[in-house]
Order: sequence, then C-alpha cells, then structure tokens
Amino acid sequence: MEMESSSKVQEETDQKIDPDRSVKHDDAHDEPMKTEEKQNATRASALDTILKSLWKICVFRKELLSSFTEDEFVFELRHFILSNLSLTEPNGVYDLLVTILELLPRWETGYEPLQSKFEVYETLKKMCNRCKVDTEYPLQLAYGPIVIANSVREFKSAFEDLTFENVLKVIRTTLMMPCDKEGCGKRNYVERVINTPLPSVFTIALEWENNETEEEISATTSVLATEIDISEICKYEGDSVFTKYRLVSMVCLCGDQYNCISYENGRWIRYFASKKEAIGDWNSVLTSFVKLKIRPEILFFENVKGQIMGTDEIGFGSLGKMF
Ligand SMILES: [Zn+2]
Repeated sequence: MEMESSSKVQEETDQKIDPDRSVKHDDAHDEPMKTEEKQNATRASALDTILKSLWKICVFRKELLSSFTEDEFVFELRHFILSNLSLTEPNGVYDLLVTILELLPRWETGYEPLQSKFEVYETLKKMCNRCKVDTEYPLQLAYGPIVIANSVREFKSAFEDLTFENVLKVIRTTLMMPCDKEGCGKRNYVERVINTPLPSVFTIALEWENNETEEEISATTSVLATEIDISEICKYEGDSVFTKYRLVSMVCLCGDQYNCISYENGRWIRYFASKKEAIGDWNSVLTSFVKLKIRPEILFFENVKGQIMGTDEIGFGSLGKMF
C-alpha cells in the first residue's frame, strides 16, 4: 500500500473533518492559526488518537493484524470514517468514539464484529425496601460509563479509602426511582446488573472542564487504577471467572492536541503529534499528567482473558504469569 506523507495526510484530515467545507486552508500557513483551524486540528488529532488507542487493544488488533500494519490501519480507517462523518456531527472526543464504533460494521469486511467487543449490556433493577416489590427495566446498551472528573475528586476527598472501582460504583448508583406498586411510591436506588457476556473492552470516559489546576488533575488522576474488577463496579450475575480488566490505552487531551498513552512491553508510552516517548511506570504516568497538564478522557480497559489469549504483538510483559 502506498502511504502518503504524514503531514499531507494530517492536512487532508484537517480539511475533511471540517464540518464547514467552505473554510479555506490553502493559504493560511503564514498566518496565526485561526480558531476554527485549531478546532479542526484538535478534532483531527482526536480521530487519529482514538484509532491509535484502539489498535493498542489486543483483542481489537488481533482481528486486523493479518490485513494491516498499525499505520495502514489508522490510514484506512481514518479515510473511511472521514468519508462517512457528514452523516453525524460528533461533538466531543467520546461522541467521536461512539461514532467510530457505530460506523465500524460498515467498514469491516470479514472481521469479527469489532464494535461488539465494546458493548456493555446492563439491566437496571430496583427493589423497594418498604414493600419488597422488584422492578426490572429493559436491557440498556452502552459503551461503558461516562464519569465527571469533578465527581471523582469529590467522592475521593469525602471518602478517602474508596478505590477507583468504589468511586465508579457510588457515582453510578445515584439514580433513584419511585416504587411501582400502587400506593407505595417509595424512592429506591436503582442497581446496575450485568447478566450477559462481559465485554472484551470496558471503556470509561472522563469528562473534564478543561480548566482544572495541577492540583485538581492530580486529585482526579491519582484515583485511577490500572486494574479493575467489573464485578466491583456493577453487580455481576454471569458465570465468567474473568471479571478483571487491565488498562491498555488512553485518549488524553494535552493542550489542544490529543495524545495516546498506552501500555507496551511493560511500560507506558506517550504518542503525541508524530512523536513517541517512553514514560515508564504508572507513577511516572501520574507525574506526567500533572507536569504536562494531560487530561485522560477515554480509558480502554481490556479483559484479562483477551490479553492472555489474544495474538500479542505488543506484549504485556509478565501479565500472563500473573493469572
Ligand atoms: Zn414499594
């Protein structure tokens, strides 16, 4: 496959992602970047960073390895997404991810359904603690929870001992609904239950204000964990013993550009613009978040079963030995 130079591809991406096709890009090189152009450059880097982060997920990559290299995958899928973006208008990076996942079935030819690896089916259940009447709501499909960064900080400062899983669980069980039994109407908490096969990838979106101080970035990111157990976050009623997930890649905002931070060969790597640098261990990642004002916005956690059984080009170090 003939690859275009990355700057040319980037320019093409910037233009195509522009929802207003009338904006001229050709003669703008000597002027300071206009706001619209900056926004488009940010969205272009969001798209490329999401695609790179998806490639870092073992169970996702293994379906495509026989057909693509990493660069070819990003190039091909970017081209496909951009040629279909006019159908939708994603606003933020998480909306863009959802758009990509929903477009995937139309791009795939002969692969396993890739977007299904991200699908989480939750049943919402409520039991009235007054009259004991159970209510079960219809199955809900999501691509993982969206969490407000500020809430993570607040819960952690209120309850210091909470783990990341506890914080997620608490944040997600704030929905109260009135009892359905006539004459009762008592409001009870709604519980999230998973009783379908677990997703291969558990995605967590963090929503930031983007004006957080270093202290606030530190207070939020220090709550994050690289390993989570989904049965600690939702009520799991299935029979898989593989309920643990490991963080493999993140889509992060740094200034007005997106960076991919991924776990490879036992260490964390940061990809930014067309550069790549080794960060080191998780504590070094936490330090980088604060020092560079990096806000992780999408976290991809992969089920440990997929990591052990997947074709492991990147290599997860000693992970196989751990389980
Ligand atoms: Zn009741």
